[in-house]
Amino acid sequence: MNRSALFFSCCVLLAGTLAAQSASNCRVGDDAEYTKQIREYTTEPFFSTELVDHLPSSSCVPSPEKFLQHIIGAPNVLDHVEQINAYMRLLEKSTPRVKVFSIGKSEEGREMLAVMVSDEENIRDLERFKQITGRLADPRGLSDTEAQKLIADGKPIYWADGSIHSPETGAPEMLMELAYRIAVEDTPFIQKIRKDSIVMITPVVETDGRDREVDIYMHHVKHPQDPRYPLIWWGHYVAHDNNRDDLGLTLALSRNMLKNFLEWHPTVMHDLHESVPYLYIMTGTGPYNAWLDPIVISEWQRMAYYEIEEMTKRGVIGVWTHGFYDGWAPNYLLSIANGHNAIGRFYETFGNGGADTQVRKLNPPDTNREWFRPNPPLPEVKWSARDNINMQESAILFGMNNVASNKNEFLNNFYLKSKRAVAKAQTEGPAAWVFPADDPRPAEQARLLNLLAQQGIEISRLENDAQIPSAAQKESADSRPRSNENSSKTGTDKDRDKDRDKDKDTNKPVTLPKGSYVIRMDQPYSRLADMVLDTQYYSPRDPRSYDDTGWTLGALRNVKTIRVVDTALLSKPMQKIATIQVAGTITGSGGTYLVNHNADNTLATFRYKLADVAMEAAEAPFEADGVRFNAGTFVIRNADRGKVEAAAKELGIPVHAVASAPKVATHPLQAPRVAMVHNWTNTQNDGWYRVAFDELKIPYTYIADTKLRQTDHLRDKFDVIILPPGGGFGGASLSSTVQGIPMRGAALPWKNTNEMPNLVAPGLDETDDIRGGLGYTGLANLEQFVRDGGLLIAAQSSSSLPVAAGMTQMVSANNPPGLNAPGSVLLSIVDDSKSPIAYGYTDKLYVYFHDGPVLNVGMNQPNPEANARSSGRGSPSDPDVIQARTYHEPEKAPKRSPREQELYIPEEVRQFGSLLLPPPAEMPRVVLRFAPEKDLVLSGMLVGAKDVAERPVVVDVPHGKGHVVLFSNNPFWRDETQGSFFLVFNSMFNYDHLDAGRSNANPSDQPRQATAAE
Ligand SMILES: [Zn+2]
Repeated sequence: MNRSALFFSCCVLLAGTLAAQSASNCRVGDDAEYTKQIREYTTEPFFSTELVDHLPSSSCVPSPEKFLQHIIGAPNVLDHVEQINAYMRLLEKSTPRVKVFSIGKSEEGREMLAVMVSDEENIRDLERFKQITGRLADPRGLSDTEAQKLIADGKPIYWADGSIHSPETGAPEMLMELAYRIAVEDTPFIQKIRKDSIVMITPVVETDGRDREVDIYMHHVKHPQDPRYPLIWWGHYVAHDNNRDDLGLTLALSRNMLKNFLEWHPTVMHDLHESVPYLYIMTGTGPYNAWLDPIVISEWQRMAYYEIEEMTKRGVIGVWTHGFYDGWAPNYLLSIANGHNAIGRFYETFGNGGADTQVRKLNPPDTNREWFRPNPPLPEVKWSARDNINMQESAILFGMNNVASNKNEFLNNFYLKSKRAVAKAQTEGPAAWVFPADDPRPAEQARLLNLLAQQGIEISRLENDAQIPSAAQKESADSRPRSNENSSKTGTDKDRDKDRDKDKDTNKPVTLPKGSYVIRMDQPYSRLADMVLDTQYYSPRDPRSYDDTGWTLGALRNVKTIRVVDTALLSKPMQKIATIQVAGTITGSGGTYLVNHNADNTLATFRYKLADVAMEAAEAPFEADGVRFNAGTFVIRNADRGKVEAAAKELGIPVHAVASAPKVATHPLQAPRVAMVHNWTNTQNDGWYRVAFDELKIPYTYIADTKLRQTDHLRDKFDVIILPPGGGFGGASLSSTVQGIPMRGAALPWKNTNEMPNLVAPGLDETDDIRGGLGYTGLANLEQFVRDGGLLIAAQSSSSLPVAAGMTQMVSANNPPGLNAPGSVLLSIVDDSKSPIAYGYTDKLYVYFHDGPVLNVGMNQPNPEANARSSGRGSPSDPDVIQARTYHEPEKAPKRSPREQELYIPEEVRQFGSLLLPPPAEMPRVVLRFAPEKDLVLSGMLVGAKDVAERPVVVDVPHGKGHVVLFSNNPFWRDETQGSFFLVFNSMFNYDHLDAGRSNANPSDQPRQATAAE
């Protein structure tokens, strides 16, 4: 590091004297030493091309080696963000062909860049080219003739970005050499790229993770005998999922990249990844995202095949397309481009997780020849960092040259896609999406609308009430969902026909109230809005999905959206608006303040903002001053009005002051001390919890499983402990949680040192030893914590931990073998509206469900197969008549609701098993339950729906003086599931009164008899 820093100052001085020179005055030759090393580090000729097997020298511009003191792709070395950015700035100083822009900072303050490389005249004219792409991006009012003139004058911008995934280390290095090569080299091939396009480079997307990864890798190089550190945090919040954030825009990198895209409108955005051998060029297997213009699908294919052909012609092995991913979900970083009418694509090259040269062995199917991989990778090769650089750099240069050579066609396609997006309202519809002004959750509504605005989507507001025919709309979050399975058993098609008939019956016009928000589909980014607000059907016949299959944002955020197909709406008076601010204030007078619980997440911020103010929760709905308040309403007695009002105003919360406290049972509403648990193997899922808590300013202690092991009397320190889903690379089973990283060898501290100064940042965790996991002691400490009156919240895969550890009587968790739920939006029903966990919710909620586990409560799950008749005479519905005895009709089994069935304990069991049975007050309480099978799926795919239908989603289980609350869904998923957040917040705020509203009646006393009608 010091070496390079020294060299940096020397080069800056050098560059300062050269900056004024025109690029054409520079002498370009061959950098023989650099070229020699390229050839030395390339392990096979079939991992290189003539584009990258050498490096030109320049009398003006320092090569990467001059600055870094190693060539790009040299073994055993990687560079930190500071060096990479400094080199890019050095290029800017050394040649008029490079200009560097800062595009923002990461969570930990590291800078992200956009490095523009092109001909000197193009760089001088960047503003004009930016205006041209901007005009083509919004072609409203532009004639085709004017458009063609702009296209002829314009330059496509090709944006290459590196290392969003921190262990994929090659691209940031490669992009330094690429910037240099394009700026310096004088072959006609490179000149074409410079003349007829603008290359834009973001060398490191995940800057925080890059520095941690380089620390760990360079530590490994210095201490090859030591066990290698895992990369515990990549970015500040999430790991690999940082390129699944385009729907939530929660991470700084997503926001910075999007903002930069909207500033320049690059024609192509190209993410550089490393995983599969040797070079996979994205086209995907399909099903492709159904809201994209088909033009872009062709562009993916055409670009991929061009690059494959050029590489293959040169004898390069293992370049292929198709396979690997699907092209369905719009959550990837490259969706920034595809969602805004440009081209988003990516490569996967064969990374090494560093710069080691290694023998890499492959097995089928990686080595299989397939129709999409006629020239497959080899079973064994020596693979180097330079090989990786050669593959990435050669292929992307072909891509860039292709775009420059066909610049008008690419720009014209961009124009066409933009124009066709504006025509969407009239062509394929719908006309608009409406967010009605009377949504009970104005804060979440505003948050979703502001997110769309951040994506560049225009929002208008109705100036008057507007009527639309009911047949022309469908309220998405309230629409009847459908089953996903192509099974004749479900009668899906019939149900759907019935639904359609019902829609016809109720042909009353619908009034959209004045002030409703309208997302018009006659705007450039109509497709993106439609894509995120619509429902998704993913056929089980399609190839296995690569990521989420459903993502309907209105439903996941518990915000009402209406799909309007009648274009008459577009001519109603409406005003375009920018961002939406919800007004908060106090109305009425008196010393008691009421805050209606509507499950808007700002209420959680409010509770903590006034943490020292005593609040209570109303245990039932009530009326005061003629206003109806929901169960869970915050009741604040005798507080300082100014203080309450300031918080209400800041957070946009309406508060009602009343003279006397309402006559309703209440209990204290706590602002509890929360611990958020992580382990030392995978921090990804807890990252989405942390980012949501941080955004809402909800305080918590970030605590390692190893620390739980070392801390007894947890109850003295915390009221609530949250176990976000484990899994990923970590595993969530009892076994893996107890073991953690095995206690072998020496202690492994995770702390900043001189050698690794970037491991820990404020908000992250450190320790003297990452080994040992939760351990048996940690498990016992957790159990003791609950028995002492604490609340343990365990979500999704982590819910199996308290279940397996014996903290939840009468609950089991399983993963049904036939279940395939790759990330879908499912309907759930509030089963116990009196539970504090359900405060603020209405009767139903859409939740995100991914693979389970499926929770079961009680001892007697009905087995539908059990009632099937034996083989014998007659038809399946005929009685089984046993020969030589009088026929007695069997007694009909009593019909029980899912809840009754769960709590039902047969008389014999009560007699003989009473020792093992919990008393009614300790029975699990199902708060939220999945809808029946026919109503279950709103968006995405669910195979095995019968294993999920009517099963518990949220279960509250008393244990000792405390509670365990289990979630089968993931309430904090990629900052998309704002609608589910308050299930967790309610659990927290009411942690010491979760038994409020509990009914301890035992339904087994009076089983409901089946009637003829059933
Ligand atoms: Zn990747």
